[in-house]
Amino acid sequence: MTTESAAAAVQATVYGYPRQGQNRELKKAVEGYWKGRVTAEALQETARDLRRANWKQLADAGLHELPTGDFSFYDHVLDTSVMVGAVPARHRTAVDTDALDGYFAMARGTQDVAPLEMTKWFDTNYHYLVPELGPETVFTADSAKQVAELAEALALGHTPRPVLVGPVTYLLLAKPAPGVAEDFVPLTLLDRLLPVYAQVLAELRGAGADWVQLDEPALVQDRTPAELGAAARAYRDLGGLTDRPKLLVASYFDRLGEALPVLAKAPVEGLALDFTDAAAANLDDLAAVGGLPGKRLVAGVVNGRNIWINDHQKSLTTLGTLLGLAGRVDVAASCSLLHVPLDATAERDIDPQIRRWLAFARQKTTEITTLARGLAQGTGAIAAELAANQADLASRTTSPITHDPAVRARTAAVTEADGRRSRPYAERAAAQRAHLRLPLLPTTTIGSFPQTTELRTARADLRAGRIGTAGYEERIRTEIREVIAFQEKTGVDVLVHGEPERNDMVQYFAEQLTGYLATQHGWVQSYGTRYVRPPVLAGDISRPEPMTVRWTAYAQEQTAKPVKGMLTGPVTMLAWSFVRDDQPLGETARQVGLALRDEVVDLEAAGTSVIQVDEPALRETLPLRAAGHAGYLAWATESFRLTTSGVRPDTQIHTHMCYAEFGDILQAIDDLDADVISLEAARSHMQVADELATAGYPREVGPGVWDIHSPRVPSTAEAAALLRKGLEAIPAERLWVNPDCGLKTRGWTETRTSLEHLVEAARTVRTEVGTTA
Ligand code: GLN
Ligand code: ZN
Repeated sequence: MTTESAAAAVQATVYGYPRQGQNRELKKAVEGYWKGRVTAEALQETARDLRRANWKQLADAGLHELPTGDFSFYDHVLDTSVMVGAVPARHRTAVDTDALDGYFAMARGTQDVAPLEMTKWFDTNYHYLVPELGPETVFTADSAKQVAELAEALALGHTPRPVLVGPVTYLLLAKPAPGVAEDFVPLTLLDRLLPVYAQVLAELRGAGADWVQLDEPALVQDRTPAELGAAARAYRDLGGLTDRPKLLVASYFDRLGEALPVLAKAPVEGLALDFTDAAAANLDDLAAVGGLPGKRLVAGVVNGRNIWINDHQKSLTTLGTLLGLAGRVDVAASCSLLHVPLDATAERDIDPQIRRWLAFARQKTTEITTLARGLAQGTGAIAAELAANQADLASRTTSPITHDPAVRARTAAVTEADGRRSRPYAERAAAQRAHLRLPLLPTTTIGSFPQTTELRTARADLRAGRIGTAGYEERIRTEIREVIAFQEKTGVDVLVHGEPERNDMVQYFAEQLTGYLATQHGWVQSYGTRYVRPPVLAGDISRPEPMTVRWTAYAQEQTAKPVKGMLTGPVTMLAWSFVRDDQPLGETARQVGLALRDEVVDLEAAGTSVIQVDEPALRETLPLRAAGHAGYLAWATESFRLTTSGVRPDTQIHTHMCYAEFGDILQAIDDLDADVISLEAARSHMQVADELATAGYPREVGPGVWDIHSPRVPSTAEAAALLRKGLEAIPAERLWVNPDCGLKTRGWTETRTSLEHLVEAARTVRTEVGTTA
């Protein structure tokens, strides 16, 4: 095909769309079903209505092929487990009794049966249910959901393209089932899985699918030759089938790298590649393999995971180059639009002059069809859209919101010394010991205390105007007094104020920092029926006034013991927001770091001797490929140190991280130079303490001795046993005693007893250490 005829055939498509509906109808229906208030039929009907509305929206926007099968009651990876019959033995009976209830049991567990484990989908904030596989796993094909959704779309007159998680990614995301050897490699099941995919593909073909999309995002990560070999085999086998639809193999979130030649050579009809900045290398890599002659290339030029308008001119340049590199080029978002909210026009509270910079899922579909039209018919056909796009982009570039001279000057003036404590750790530790006078094995908590219904109600009342600010703040002060009194009575050594004033650890700060925007309807699925509304980090960041000082100071007035100040760190502030795309992340992190530094300094000035800066997101934002790690960790740790380095040597800086595979960031944890780090450790029996000790971590550590993810109360003996385990790795002078994480999701009853046990355990082990010392 010539370039001109390739251009004429350009189509627009997406890989997936937000599932929840305009008013989160899906959440309401599913939760209603769980409570027995919504029947299965009504739930299915809501789902059908939502799918129909989504397809209509996409078709009206001018998309050609529409995705099907991307809809899910809970999670598309769980749907894939059902599709291939990978139901854990413990859920078999439930699934055989009632498919829908069994499905939810796998997702959420029941009284007696644990759910599948949940983890983050690549470097997004979406969580999927981890497939559990073992040498005994028998796969069986169940294409019912995929076929039904395909049939629905066909009946509505659409051109559907079923979207499936590809077999290689499915296996690479899986882990050994409980009871299976840890070193079992799920990818070894590929030959057993492929016939099941073959059957599903044949059934989709039979039901009228012309194309089917197989998502292989796992291939954008660093892969071993064996894994690449498995990918080659998978697509040689699937491509070699006679009874199958045309295959589009999709990748996103990063460049394909070594997997690109593998897929380019495979006997499939099309590839979908990410061409946004994060994956820009795909362009040269594609040229280097000689393009995809005679094949379909779906070009993900519109960023599917941020909320900013696209730069059309830039995309058209990329697309123009791509036209010469494939038999056919289509335009798409870089990944499923699942990761962005539905519709920016619903944000009535955002100034229209700023709203014009925003593109949520609905706006992105229009951008995609505009680009497809421009590519097919020439830029003259989209002249008006191009002009508007350029004006919108220009208004963002020149806005005082994105360019605050004071913030710019401050970040530009940052020196290496600004990110270093004035004294080395050993000196600080001595100064802190003299200043704080804590016992051996000091006890503390991670920050939040139970967020009770009364607290949530008070916040809702304040928002609705049922109570005034004075009434609300009195409520918060009362809570702080109670939390302090309880900790004193229990004998905790370093107290917290309990964070009762915080709706969320990121949102609370975002609301008070200049440069952040809040959305009213910007919901994004986090997992299952849980949706979050990430704040939008839109402009230059500054802190007009103290954010936490008065609450911490109020708490400190109630007690002679040290009260720990609590802040969310810069990396986490970025990770759980939509961040700006018009400057390097490191620059944004530096701005946030400096704004938080002001808060840290103010806390110290107000008499706070211990300040904790939480960075639970440090590990999860690690780039997908190792080549990106060093650059990321450099700015991440720098921004943390900028936050924490403005204080005196005798002020103790803590940090906290939740569960993570710390192995590959141990050096970065050290580079934070925090005096104390608390980590989740109870479930893994203090494994992280060993890891830190082995790596020679020189400072103080609080590996959690109470698993706060369940209401279970640990006994004193249990907590003491974990402490003794911790002591095998970390010397008593550097070991802290604390729970795994914050207590906001716990009830007061279990919190009371658990914390008493924790303090008791510390006392017990203290005397043991004392006698042996
Ligand atoms: N300080 C926070 C809390 O206790 C930390 C939460 C977190 O790490 N996710 O709630
Ligand atoms: Zn935590």
